Order: sequence, then C-alpha cells, then structure tokens
Amino acid sequence: MMIVMKEDASKEEIGAVVDRVESVGATAHVSEGDVLTVVGAIGDRERIANLQLDGFPGVDRVVPISKPYKLASAQFKHGERTVVEVDGRRVGGNNFGLIAGPCTVESREQLLSTADAVKDAGASMLRGGAYKPRTSPYSFQGLGGEGLRLLREAKEETGLPIVTELMDPRDLEPVLEVADVIQVGARNMQNYSLLAEIGRSGRPVLLKRGLAAQVEELLMAAEYVLKEGNDQVMLCERGIRTFETATRFTLDIMAVPVLKELSHLPVVVDPSHAAGKRDLVLPLSLAAAAAGADGIIVEVHHDPEAAICDGPQAIPADDFRDYVEQVQRVAGIVGKELSAL
Ligand code: PEP
Ligand code: MN
Repeated sequence: MMIVMKEDASKEEIGAVVDRVESVGATAHVSEGDVLTVVGAIGDRERIANLQLDGFPGVDRVVPISKPYKLASAQFKHGERTVVEVDGRRVGGNNFGLIAGPCTVESREQLLSTADAVKDAGASMLRGGAYKPRTSPYSFQGLGGEGLRLLREAKEETGLPIVTELMDPRDLEPVLEVADVIQVGARNMQNYSLLAEIGRSGRPVLLKRGLAAQVEELLMAAEYVLKEGNDQVMLCERGIRTFETATRFTLDIMAVPVLKELSHLPVVVDPSHAAGKRDLVLPLSLAAAAAGADGIIVEVHHDPEAAICDGPQAIPADDFRDYVEQVQRVAGIVGKELSAL
C-alpha cells in the first residue's frame, strides 16, 4: 500500500501516518520526492487496508501496489526515478554511469595501469573483483584481501569510486572498507541472506540478473535490499542462458525498457559477460545506450592477452577512449549525459 501525502503535508502529518502504519506491525518506508512524499506501508495486507488512512490529515490518497515487489515497483515512486549517487557520480535519470575496469584484480601493475586508462577516458567508476565467482573451483579465485588493498590504492590514485563483488557475508567488513558499490554477482542474485545483509549495510548495490532469472525474480531480489531501507540499487542485465551457443550468454536488451517500465531503479548493462567476445562489446554497448540503459559496466584490461580471467572479452585499455566517445554519442541521442568528474 502506498500513502501519497498532499504537497503541503507537514512533517507531523507524515509522522502520524508512519506511526499509524507501524501500530499494526507494518513497516513504513518514507520516500521524499521533489514534490510529493509517499509512505510505503509494507506488511500484512488486510491489517494495512483496515488502517483507513483515506481522509487522514495530510493524506492525498491511498493506492494499492499491485506487483509482488512493492518498494522496487515504478508505482511506489510515482513516476520518479531513483538516481544512485556515488561520490558525485550519478546513475539514473539523465545521468549515464560508465563503470569500467578489469574482470579481476590480478596485480598492482595491471590494476593501476588499467585504472589510469579508464579514468583518463572518462569512466565514472572502477570495477575489479577481489573475490571471484568462478565456475571451476580450480580456477583462480581472486586475490581476496590483497585485491581489496590494491583497489584501495587505485581509488587513492585515480579518485574513482570502486565497484567490487561480495560473495560471502563473512567478507562484508573488509569489502565495506573499500567498496563504494557492492556488486552482487549473477550467481548470487537469489542469495537472500546476502542481499539482506548488504541492504542493511546501506552501501549502493549493483545487482546482477541471474543466469536464468526472470525479470520479476530480479526485481524480487532487489526488494530484499530495499526492504532493509537501502534504495541505492542498480539493476544489471548481463546476459541470460538461452539455446544459443554462438555467444557466452544472450544479452536480453528488451529487459532494459521492461525493467524501466516496471521499476524506478536505474538499469545498467554488462555487455562483456553477455558476449564473451571483445568485438561484440561495442555494438552491444551502443544498443544498451540506445535502449535507454542508465549505465554500462564493461571489462577493460591493459594487456588482455595476458589476462588471467576473461581476457577475450576485455577491451584493450588503449582502445577505451574511442569506445567511450562512441557510447557517449549514443547516450547523448537519448538525452543522457556521461557522469564523470
Ligand atoms: C563479473 O562481473 O566479474 C562477473 C563475474 O559477472 P557475473 O556475476 O554477471 O557473471
Ligand atoms: Mn569477468
């Protein structure tokens, strides 16, 4: 249930609505938009319906949210879009976020030279995994704590905010010391205790769509984070499993406008993992920007031939400036501006 307050509703009136919602054991999520304040009441449906908030002081109207995901639904924000802001870089609305960097932190030289290149080309944030979800337990699993230390160094050197994956809630504390955005990988999209833990941390989240997850399942996963009071969530389409084997996965480009219709959360596209092949990364990125994506997360490596992980899909750092220019041009056509400092 969504309680839309009148434009001139006072703080006391909003507080009284919150108290009333909480009096039946429901949770009140207050969302203050530019014009309107909306109180989302989440909890037992019948009890909330019986609150009779229609006509309550300061209340304009009460609207049920029909979707199973409530806080993530477009209805909840009443047409307003969430903008995720990380250290002055914005993703969502008219802002296009470009997250770039290596798949995995492999060495100091690799990370710092790639970080410098993406910064110079105009990236918004730096990506790099310290804890890697590898299909084989015998593959390189990432540098762990040492990888986090290198990410911190790259952040100090370039000033770029860091996006890095958390796989195990036991690593939350050290990851929080470095990550400006916590990435939830495709394989963990439905790890609900991990999602709740990250939600409670309050840190912005990049939530990747599971390999075989439906759009609604992605939104329900986002709901687990939002429910903890953290609405700084970027949804990420990264390719899904289909019968097609010519590419690593199939980028579901339709998910971009579909997610944007269903949810107020920004949508980011990962063309690198979808394609698995470098040559496809630029055309998929242009398609994503044209489809209205709010950002891209893309793999870049200073020496892809030598990469330990995902080299074939990495854009060489030397080519990245050209890549950014082209993406920026298409984003501009759909009214978005690259958000970088
Ligand atoms: C990654 O971004 O490095 C990654 C492993 O992605 P995904 O979880 O989408 O496979
Ligand atoms: Mn990768």
